Amino acid sequence: MTFTPDRKAGLDRLAEFAPRSGSAYASNRNYDDGVPEDGMLSNVSQLSPWLHAGLLSEREVILAALNEHGPGKAEKFIAEVFWRVYFKGYLEQRPSVWDAYKQGRDGALIAVENNSGLAKVYEEAVAGRTGIEAFDQWVRELVQTGYLHNHARMWFASVWIFTLKLDWQLGADFFLRHLMDGDAASNTLSWRWVAGLHTKGKNYAARASNIKRYTERRDGGPLSAEGLNEDPEPLSEETEHQRQKLDLPEAPPEDAFDAPFALLLHDEAASHVPLDLPKAPAAVIGAARPKARSTGEVGELAAKFATGAVENGAAEAASAFDCPALTWEAGANLKDLISEVGVERLAVPYLPTGWTRDALMPGIAPLAEAGSTITLLGDLDRLTWPHARAGFFRVKKEIPGILGELGLAPGD
Ligand SMILES: Cc1cc2nc3c(=O)[nH]c(=O)nc-3n(C[C@H](O)[C@H](O)[C@H](O)COP(=O)(O)OP(=O)(O)OC[C@H]3O[C@@H](n4cnc5c(N)ncnc54)[C@H](O)[C@@H]3O)c2cc1C
Repeated sequence: MTFTPDRKAGLDRLAEFAPRSGSAYASNRNYDDGVPEDGMLSNVSQLSPWLHAGLLSEREVILAALNEHGPGKAEKFIAEVFWRVYFKGYLEQRPSVWDAYKQGRDGALIAVENNSGLAKVYEEAVAGRTGIEAFDQWVRELVQTGYLHNHARMWFASVWIFTLKLDWQLGADFFLRHLMDGDAASNTLSWRWVAGLHTKGKNYAARASNIKRYTERRDGGPLSAEGLNEDPEPLSEETEHQRQKLDLPEAPPEDAFDAPFALLLHDEAASHVPLDLPKAPAAVIGAARPKARSTGEVGELAAKFATGAVENGAAEAASAFDCPALTWEAGANLKDLISEVGVERLAVPYLPTGWTRDALMPGIAPLAEAGSTITLLGDLDRLTWPHARAGFFRVKKEIPGILGELGLAPGD
């Protein structure tokens, strides 16, 4: 598989996949076809690494599907893209879920260190030596390719939680360390969904028969999964994660860009193109922080994709705007860095709840407090997040209206 971390590769994959984003996607998306020797999968888009890095926007991916198939046939694919936006909006309104995840992960790691029996189960799981053929295969695929099919992620998480009986936060951490698309919102909330914590009391049980059916197209035949706990009880938790009011930044007025400014590109917004700036920046600042995903070691593929995306995005922006590109290294003073290029203001693509915000916000805060930042938030997020208050259903029913407001409605 080739996941080149630049916008061109994302656009090429989008152009190649768009013809299959209609009814073919709806009827084939659940098959986990493994790792094809001759390149990318044909039944799902594998666009998530580019979407997570902001090299492509959800808007342009949706538009490509609509242009090929219209709203009826593209409905399923578009709904899946909205799941990503929904999860981001949900976590934004319940940031305590992210904080609790990190606390739970750290506590679970200490428990592993202090309990040799638990440590053995954990080590065997992450080494792909559980003896459950399907699970062990997905571990290898995740580590070797940096990607896993959605259905495999669901089965994997279910086996991890209910059969291996490991803490869900450790599994979520393992995913974040290796997935090129590792995303604080989609990952944390999907693991919670499988566990029965997102939709309280409704968990996801992986079944050997279902795994066999949807892996049957793999080279070498279907994967077996003996000995699964197929009738598990959902997990529960004491904490009630209260919803916070969304406090989104106003769209900046055009004169906000009159004075010279630098543009920050980061792990979740690595290309200037989707940001659609009204004026050219005087400099581009690249800040990649993949190590902030975890306290453990981040996999080479995930780290390389994130770092490459920001480096390539910064180089492309510098060439498009004919301005210098600087790198903001972890620990360096951001204000000093932008004053090197003679500017005082910084345009910051919105940092949603997650590690990118955790890693960058302390350095940005002094500029923000001095009123020297301009926050950029895309219209799709701005329109969708207010509906991401509870279940996905509320967002789903708003999709036609949101597409209409974005000028993507049928007939536009
Ligand atoms: C336990 C678990 C962990 C996950 N962790 C992540 C993660 O860290 N990062 C991540 O981007 N996705 C995550 N997902 C969601 C989903 O599995 C991936 O987005 C999807 O598999 C990416 O592959 P694709 O691009 O081929 O998807 P496609 O099927 O081609 O879908 C197109 C796009 O829609 C979005 N999308 C599709 N399905 C989902 C979904 N269920 N939830 C959210 N967005 C979706 C993605 O942006 C994807 O690129 C997780 C799912 C589970 C069950």
